[in-house]
Amino acid sequence: MKISVISIIESTTVDGTGLRTTVYCAGCGHRCKGCHNPQSWDINSGEMTDVDVLAERLLATGEDITFSGGDPMFQAEAFAELASKIKSQSNRNIWCYTGYRFEQLLKNPKAMALLQNIDVLVDGQFELALRDENLLFRGSSNQRLIDVQKSLAKGEAVIHEPMNLLSPLLKKFIMQIEN
Ligand code: SF4
Repeated sequence: MKISVISIIESTTVDGTGLRTTVYCAGCGHRCKGCHNPQSWDINSGEMTDVDVLAERLLATGEDITFSGGDPMFQAEAFAELASKIKSQSNRNIWCYTGYRFEQLLKNPKAMALLQNIDVLVDGQFELALRDENLLFRGSSNQRLIDVQKSLAKGEAVIHEPMNLLSPLLKKFIMQIEN
């Protein structure tokens, strides 16, 4: 399978905890007012890239991984294959951004196949009226950081623990104080 990819950025710190490599894909139909990346809406704005090639490149970085866009859920089947390949060959942590709410995705088999191998989902459309620049890893306060595996086990959205949102350095500092 192939994924329409706009860019791949290594060593980013803005799309999840720690150092990550982010795949920015093309294709999104949510059309949020104030979208940071409207040029990504057209699925044809990316380059069709083989999942095997992508997996090899992502595994070579040694970093955790984020799927962003656009909306990866518009190519859920191919991203599911990519996430499965990564998880079968590594213990990389994978985050995924989407304009859908977690509850909507539960009714979509292709999205569910992708979620099986996602650690954290940042869900919901960007709401301009709820924009908050102090939020970590999301643009508006309606968006949630969801612990996907706990949520799938429980059958409802479980919010990602705040401690995990701290930068690795700050986390190390706190652990040193506690010891
Ligand atoms: S979901 Fe993201 S990429 Fe899609 S329109 Fe909304 S902000 Fe833009």
